Amino acid sequence: MEFKKIENHDSGEKIYSLIKKMFPICRSITGNGVRKTLKIIKNNIPIVIKEIPSGTQVFDWTIPKEWNIKKAYIKNSKGEKIVDFKKSNLHVLNYSIPIHKKMSLKELKPHLHTLPEYPDWIPYLTSYYKERWGFCLTHNQYTNLNDDTYEVFIDSSLKDGLLTFGELLIKGETKDEVLFSCYLCHPSLCNDNLSGVSLLTFLAKYLLKQKLKYSYRFLFIPETIGAITWLSLNEKNVHKIKHGLVATCVGDPGNSTYKKSRIGDTLIDKAVEKVLIDSEQPYKIVDFFPSGSDERQFCSPGFNLPIGSLVRTLYGNFPEYHTSADNLDFIKHKALEDSFKKYLDTIFILENNKTYINTNSKCEPQLGKRGLYQTLGSQKNNALIQDALMWTLNMADGTNSTLDIASKSKMKFKTIKEATDILEKNNLLKNMDSQCTNMDLNFGQLTNNTLQKQ
Ligand code: ZN
Repeated sequence: MEFKKIENHDSGEKIYSLIKKMFPICRSITGNGVRKTLKIIKNNIPIVIKEIPSGTQVFDWTIPKEWNIKKAYIKNSKGEKIVDFKKSNLHVLNYSIPIHKKMSLKELKPHLHTLPEYPDWIPYLTSYYKERWGFCLTHNQYTNLNDDTYEVFIDSSLKDGLLTFGELLIKGETKDEVLFSCYLCHPSLCNDNLSGVSLLTFLAKYLLKQKLKYSYRFLFIPETIGAITWLSLNEKNVHKIKHGLVATCVGDPGNSTYKKSRIGDTLIDKAVEKVLIDSEQPYKIVDFFPSGSDERQFCSPGFNLPIGSLVRTLYGNFPEYHTSADNLDFIKHKALEDSFKKYLDTIFILENNKTYINTNSKCEPQLGKRGLYQTLGSQKNNALIQDALMWTLNMADGTNSTLDIASKSKMKFKTIKEATDILEKNNLLKNMDSQCTNMDLNFGQLTNNTLQKQ
């Protein structure tokens, strides 16, 4: 069994086109927009769609009423629609209660929201837990409003209903899980976070065709309330999660950023750091902080899961964030492709990180008599692999993993992996994980059978 990593040069294009398909849908934390989006995802990967009723208590929170919207506009006294939900679903304050009323500009103004510093952009605002109504518009639209009588119409509904999310478990050899989570509650916004939704869809699609050591769980949930709901429903099983990432903002042209898990030095933290170093591109690593996305819930002290977040420009740090400028022009194929590759590289490390013991540890083994030098290819590559062989033989004392050796030698993970492969083939290394893996495997099969019976 070995996880294979294939260079996929059209992944950026595919991820982008799925984003384009999902972009027009008006989403929120509940409602038909989420259902439509999950249906599109389900056309690509076999997610299971789950629905939890409004009013359900999830830890300290209550699942809110379900929100849906058909249309919304503001008309002036001439009957002209001066703000229309049809043109951009950001125009309506997300979760607005229904209203149909005529009013003066003075009465209307407290319900209007703009971004004076970017007068052409529509801000994205929500009011999930306080019932109100409002419109978001460009500051230019706002400054053009005259003293007039306006007809305000929001054809929405806020009723007891369901909170909807999607989940996919890809079973590997062991019951240990890697969690990939993203949120699908934002309306027409690309980087935050259709980029994460689409990237994870293609990541799952890719993993479905692989033989895997770990099991992989994918969550497509509304932000915050979705993560809280999922954790509340799955509290008994979260101990299976050994590594994880929250995928968001993976399509902007900025450099990669990694936000560490709350624990800070887990395998996922080290693996992503190594991926970023090995990429030879500029990057940033930031410590965990308690604001942000769903890592807030996964890394709350009662769970404290080894989950970080691999993004490009961190949410809030790009001006387009939560505005109509976070659109299909803002995200780039190349950036999506690069992010996808970094997620795959991280999985490659998780799947292939093993601990070995040198079977010939008293002085160096004679490599020449084993014919290893002749098989090493070009001069430059030869020296590199030879160096990797020396590092591996020396560090393989049963305590250092492939990742440890790669980090200490400052060589790429894939180079050390190549060296361990050569040495293992020549019986100079013994994999220390094999016994554990077999045990895990048996246990995993037991668990799977038990699950199937339920
Ligand atoms: Zn957001």
